[in-house]
Amino acid sequence: MAYIEPAPLLDKENPFEAMMSRFRTASQILGLEEEVYNVLKNPAKQVIVSLPVTMDDGSIKVFEGYRVIHSTILGPSKGGIRFDPHVNLDEVKALAAWMTWKCAVVDIPYGGAKGGVACNPREMSAGEIERLMRAYTQSMQDVFGPDQDIPAPDMGTGPREMAWLMDQYSRNKGMTVAAVVTGKPIVLGGSLGRTEATGRGVMVSALAAMEKLKINPYKATCAVQGFGNVGSWAARLLHERGLKIQAISDLASAYYNEDGVDIEAAVKYRDSNKGSLDGFSGAEKINGSEILTLPVDVLVPAATEDVITGSNAGNIKAQLIVEGANGPTSSKADNIIFDKGITVVPDILANAGGVTVSYFEWVQNRLGYKWTAERVNRRSDRIMKDAFNNVFKTATDYKVPLRIAAYMVAIDKVAKTYKFRGGY
Ligand code: GLU
Repeated sequence: MAYIEPAPLLDKENPFEAMMSRFRTASQILGLEEEVYNVLKNPAKQVIVSLPVTMDDGSIKVFEGYRVIHSTILGPSKGGIRFDPHVNLDEVKALAAWMTWKCAVVDIPYGGAKGGVACNPREMSAGEIERLMRAYTQSMQDVFGPDQDIPAPDMGTGPREMAWLMDQYSRNKGMTVAAVVTGKPIVLGGSLGRTEATGRGVMVSALAAMEKLKINPYKATCAVQGFGNVGSWAARLLHERGLKIQAISDLASAYYNEDGVDIEAAVKYRDSNKGSLDGFSGAEKINGSEILTLPVDVLVPAATEDVITGSNAGNIKAQLIVEGANGPTSSKADNIIFDKGITVVPDILANAGGVTVSYFEWVQNRLGYKWTAERVNRRSDRIMKDAFNNVFKTATDYKVPLRIAAYMVAIDKVAKTYKFRGGY
């Protein structure tokens, strides 16, 4: 089985630098003290582990795994685990910091963390993935904990992997510890509504922004890049609210239908085709890069980092961009987009619905109680709307883009908490 080396991020911005440039701008506008800035700019802890795993052919392969805890100022650190060939320390550091800002924007009592293993789960058997996840959990036994650091799914992982993590951690403890991880299968203490939560939050924040921009959802067109958990749920739920989803794409292919893609049919096709849209017949096949520059009203990048860059930002025609992915827009592209008058609902706000329902899952596990889907959705929708309104007000008051406003709201909250707690 071929192992793909992490690709160098040559023509792209370094994701940690991209995060830092926004952090710097927002800190300056807030007039943040240098001491606090210095505390927040460095991750609190970085763990790197080597994970020897027996592959199905009997060979032993060593994978590199990471867990970066950016901050525990607001509470135990929270953030997903990514299984992807491109995972590297720099990316995990940026993603961990984004989790700190994300939890602060939606006002949930968590710090930020992220984990990852450089591997290609698409080319691994279920048994190999299970052994890798158990080896990773074993190495992180002292890092994770329901009051310490709480992982969740991210790219390349889902409820199945979280079940293995929960089981491995619990075996070591000699008791079931459901609250050590979120995004679990429902029967293991997962929350109703968690699977669709990120896509639902994208929908709620998109509608809130459309209301401000006076875009009628029933007349609006939309393109969604990425058809994994976030993109497919965002597409489905936005369509339910009236938007015409004219284009969808995944790693392998992109599809356009002027009259609207049948999202249910696309989901069915993907699920019957090993998770890939390749070969979908319900729309015309287009070039993957075209999806970002189609003449639609709303663009939802829900795939990965740095897809909207200095080289394509000038060609974007959407009036509104809602970032389902973490870090899809490079900091260079931010300025071009702002000058064009395009509104961006930034990642740390738009995709915070996932971690919000993760928080609800953790609360339910600790209470030993289950909420209905209706209660989960109602509470997460309210949190997303309040967070949007808070960020929108800050953007209006300070005359800054929503992204900088979201960082300002987050940094201000973390900085104030830090000052109360104090350092050494
Ligand atoms: N991986 C998701 C994110 O980037 C969810 C994290 C969580 O639920 O802890 O927001």
